[in-house]
Amino acid sequence: MNPALRAIPSVEKTIKALEPLELPRRIVLGIIRTRFERMREGGEIPEFTELCAGLKAEIDGMARGRIQPVINGTGIVLHTNLGRAPLPRKALEQVVAIAEGYSTLEYDLASGERGSRGAYVEKGLAALCEAEAAVAVNNCAAALLLILKQFTREKKEVIISRGELVQIGGGFRIPEILEASGAVLREAGTTNKTNLEDYKKLIGANTAIILKVHQSNFWMDGFVESTGLKGLSDLSKQHGIPLVFDLGSGAVIDSAEVNGLPGEPTPAGALREGADIVCFSGDKLFGGPQAGIIAGKSSHIEALKRNPVFRALRCDKMTLAALQGVVELYLDGEDSIGQIPAWKALSMPVEELRKRGDEIIRNLGSCGKRVQLEPSKSEAGGGTLPAARVDSICLAINAAQTELDPMAAAFRGGKPPVIGFIREGKFQIDLRTVFPEQDTTLARIISEILTRF
Ligand SMILES: *Cc1c(COP(=O)(O)O)cnc(C)c1O
Repeated sequence: MNPALRAIPSVEKTIKALEPLELPRRIVLGIIRTRFERMREGGEIPEFTELCAGLKAEIDGMARGRIQPVINGTGIVLHTNLGRAPLPRKALEQVVAIAEGYSTLEYDLASGERGSRGAYVEKGLAALCEAEAAVAVNNCAAALLLILKQFTREKKEVIISRGELVQIGGGFRIPEILEASGAVLREAGTTNKTNLEDYKKLIGANTAIILKVHQSNFWMDGFVESTGLKGLSDLSKQHGIPLVFDLGSGAVIDSAEVNGLPGEPTPAGALREGADIVCFSGDKLFGGPQAGIIAGKSSHIEALKRNPVFRALRCDKMTLAALQGVVELYLDGEDSIGQIPAWKALSMPVEELRKRGDEIIRNLGSCGKRVQLEPSKSEAGGGTLPAARVDSICLAINAAQTELDPMAAAFRGGKPPVIGFIREGKFQIDLRTVFPEQDTTLARIISEILTRF
């Protein structure tokens, strides 16, 4: 044996020195073995303490990859990278109760026989959307895929405005999902202008549906024209072609009543105006779990549920339990804005944010001098209310230009991590997306970090 290799410590001794372990033993063992492998293959063999420090850094790095809670200081309420809508406690209680045991997921207590999965949630969703029927699938992309699959089985053509052939977030492009479903795209009008005549020209014997997609993550200004739902609805009825509206966000309460936000089309409003089917996300302005909710005529919903693709896209019990909780909060009507975290964040008055900010700065003691409150604008985010900005308040921390990136990294390394942003030469944390109960934790993290910068 090469004498140098004797300097490699035993795995047992090494793992002992690393305890308490931050990650499962087998993952740590894997990291140690890979490191030892490199040493055996002629890599440098460091001192034991140095070796352990290196391994610890590697373990720390991997532990950072775990899904874990963060403090959202971005001001973006529905941040796709940060998990979109935080769930209401009441909905989570139902998830825990149902997921940790057996449940009536597909069981009918009255007959003692097999029941229909999600029947009660579907009724609640239908009531919220003022629709004949509703159903939930994995997400809104899945909802759209299912709708396209079902309606293009015989006739293939889907008419959509060129202004609505959009990309929504990472990897979701309307034209690509159309293609994946086997539909044939018929593009109406131009990017900035599409009128009823443009749609009319494309209707033919092979038209399956007219699809309208809400421009949810951008807006166009200036020389723009799009066709209203009413006109499209009349046209679709004349030709007996279903009109499908992908709403994206799906606010079931009037966003115009919240903190000066613009009005977002509601599922009920869209159906009233003549859409035959609407679909929207469960985890955007609906404020619930990841899901795609489809509502409309019961004949259509029934057909969608019979489509073989539906089985591959259906929701699991945890999603249905969470949806049930959120739907009941809305239907109770008492204080849905106060109980659904996304709406609570969007509706918080700016004076209240300022008060919280003052309190956090007071709690910082002497290092509070380096932190000011600055007015800012929060966003709904997540591909919703694109033009919407809500006045907000940021904690703005002064630092030298070269210190800003390291400071942001230090905040990301906090326990829990704090995600903020750099603006105007300061590291900023928008308080609209920080839960009030996180304020003391945030103050602790800020003062810890400010001792290092
Ligand atoms: C966000 C969005 C989608 C995709 O929704 P997911 O639930 O993320 O799959 C589809 N259409 C529109 C208009 C959207 O805004």
